[in-house]
Amino acid sequence: MSLAAAIDVKGWCPGVLRPMLSGDGLLARVRPWCGALRLDEAKGLADASERFGNGHIDLTRRANLQIRGLGDAGVHGLQDAVERLGLVDRDAEVEAGRNIMVSPLTGLDPAEVDVRPVARTLANLLARDATLYDLPSKFGFLVDGGGTVSIAQERADISLKALGQTMAVGLDTPAGTDWIGSTSFDDAARAAVAIAKAFVGLAREGGRLRDLGEERFGQLRALARKRLGPVGDGVSSKPKRLIGVERLVVGVAATFGRLEAPQLHRFATLAGEVGATDIRLSPWRALYVGVRDVAAAQILVKAARDIGLIVDANDPVLRIDACPGAPACRSSSVDTRRDARRLATSAFAGTIHISGCAKGCARSAPADLVLVGEQGRYNVIRNGTTRDVPECSVAAEEAGALLDVR
Ligand code: SF4
Repeated sequence: MSLAAAIDVKGWCPGVLRPMLSGDGLLARVRPWCGALRLDEAKGLADASERFGNGHIDLTRRANLQIRGLGDAGVHGLQDAVERLGLVDRDAEVEAGRNIMVSPLTGLDPAEVDVRPVARTLANLLARDATLYDLPSKFGFLVDGGGTVSIAQERADISLKALGQTMAVGLDTPAGTDWIGSTSFDDAARAAVAIAKAFVGLAREGGRLRDLGEERFGQLRALARKRLGPVGDGVSSKPKRLIGVERLVVGVAATFGRLEAPQLHRFATLAGEVGATDIRLSPWRALYVGVRDVAAAQILVKAARDIGLIVDANDPVLRIDACPGAPACRSSSVDTRRDARRLATSAFAGTIHISGCAKGCARSAPADLVLVGEQGRYNVIRNGTTRDVPECSVAAEEAGALLDVR
């Protein structure tokens, strides 16, 4: 694909087969299967990122990876490399539709159901049905194993969550997930696809499920409920975001979700040395690996810290979401991550979202302080999102003072 062709598809979700032009070249989004990368896949992606791109790898809010800084020639090399790793779909339409988040500890945490078979079936069904290519490009699914480190509170058009012996089924609404019923594990993927197909018939142009409006949403819910049973208690339990060690799982985070290629390669090597077979991704940009014992967990934590990964749940950087900003993104006039690093040294205890523009790629939930770049300055919003009305505008150097006036 040429740079010019990539410009034409801006606004779509980028993939490996259909990259998107950004400020530092083309970027390709890699969608791991069932939310996990085998260690050889992680190393292969790191190598390909360094060889064909600029070595910057971003962890995304949908638990994918983005390889940045590709040139025209590099795209083809990357596509070949990712295809050899088995991470590319049949074509760009199938790739674009495989938006499935999977809870990161599924199959690792004995307290949670291994829902990878449900996710795999869902991916296969989505790939087989051409009518689903009409879904909006950002239409997404999540499959949660019902553990404590849960993704069930994340936004997805259609959610499936293990609850006892059933899968709860949820639909996205402007107020969050509406858990409308439940079904068996065997039927869950088919139920999700049936709802998605019904949505295609009801949808407004380009709108997501939460944009349906009351009447059409009611129709969809009524249709869906015909094949569902009641939902059990506890479907809305509070999720946890593990960083550090719990049982035999280690969670680490990258600063603002940015990994460098050698860092990912080294982390995959370290993970193999302590008994892991894969690396799990999460929508909060943490990586998880299962280890053989507690001593191995401690070894991995120390080694991960040594290569610059975050291993402490109280690290102040974890309170800040910052998109790539300028110069990596052409929509930004501010260097968001440089400014985020400055703010991370303050004693401010609240959440901060620093966004290069009002699109707010890094975070959709409200934050205590939101800074939105515009013409080289930041619009300031408190207790809101990038879409809210700002109370004032400040220069980047003045942003630190905002953290003192609480
Ligand atoms: S929020 Fe705006 S500036 Fe930041 S990455 Fe998204 S489009 Fe680019």
